[in-house]
Amino acid sequence: MSGAVPSDVLTPFRREPGRALMLGHVHPDADVLGTLLALGVALEAAGWSVTYGGPHPAPGALSFLPGVERYRILPSVAGPLDVAVLTDCPNPGRTEGLIDQTKAAASVVVNIDHHPDNRRYGHVNWIDTSAAATGEMVYRLLVALGLPLTPGIATNLYTAIHTDTGSFRYSNVTPDTFRIAAELVAAGAEPAVVSSALYERRATDSLRWLGESLARVEVSDDGQVAWLALPGGAVPETFIESEELVNYPRSIASVRVACLLRERGDTVKVSLRGKGDVNVNQIAARFGGGGHPNAAGFTVPGTLGPVTRDVLAAVRQAVRDEPAARPISS
Ligand code: AMP
Ligand code: MN
Ligand code: MN
Repeated sequence: MSGAVPSDVLTPFRREPGRALMLGHVHPDADVLGTLLALGVALEAAGWSVTYGGPHPAPGALSFLPGVERYRILPSVAGPLDVAVLTDCPNPGRTEGLIDQTKAAASVVVNIDHHPDNRRYGHVNWIDTSAAATGEMVYRLLVALGLPLTPGIATNLYTAIHTDTGSFRYSNVTPDTFRIAAELVAAGAEPAVVSSALYERRATDSLRWLGESLARVEVSDDGQVAWLALPGGAVPETFIESEELVNYPRSIASVRVACLLRERGDTVKVSLRGKGDVNVNQIAARFGGGGHPNAAGFTVPGTLGPVTRDVLAAVRQAVRDEPAARPISS
């Protein structure tokens, strides 16, 4: 298993139980929710008093995560706190201002993340870009602290890893990913239950919405870029949040970069996905966003048409600048 958990990450938890905040990032996904719930519930079992929340609620699609009903929208942060933990959050902007109140309220802010562009905004920063998910890191933290892995905690961490690896399919998967997943299954996470909860709870109308979405996929003449631009209201937000729609344009053989552009009010949220040769994180950074080399995103003000034009221009340039590492099949 890769390196030991740094001692400055362990110290804030090796004390008499106190008050802790588990602070989530905007539009929380399974990696951030699963890790905050896992660590928080384990600390509660050791006697801590724990609050869970962030700028946005947990999505309905993740309502199966054990303990997720404890996670709520935080209008503000109440202190004093002995420790505050952020996971999977590369920059303070992704707390929509809550980090400032948190830093004022907490004796220690612990930043646990696997994004390469993490801004190290905590008092303690543990950044491991080799981790497929922060779920792997929090697993190692719980083991190092000697905290018990209950089936509920294991389910949260397993789901975090399962989703960030695209069901153990992406290039971020390592031997450690499988070793940790195996330990989590041994501790009571049930792969079939998690897969079914994630992928077999579709709303009755969702295949029609999927059809409407997929009909909008477009592919560049050279086949290397595919995109899906969804006008506001075309399909329900809850549907978009419960599907990784960007994986459909990504699944075309010749495609090197796939884009999903979702109009939301007067902003457009953009998801970019690569396949290992074009670094989409660098494209996202130019628009003020971030992420990983193969999965990145950003939100910009504007309407769908002009934003789509600007994003595609940047993507095509990045694709041109980076010769294909492998033969392009069609
Ligand atoms: P998404 O396309 O929203 O699923 O995000 C893919 C990856 O990009 C995740 O690792 C996100 O944390 C990251 N990401 C998405 N939007 C932003 C943003 N505005 N700023 C920084 N990172 C982002
Ligand atoms: Mn996340
Ligand atoms: Mn993650």
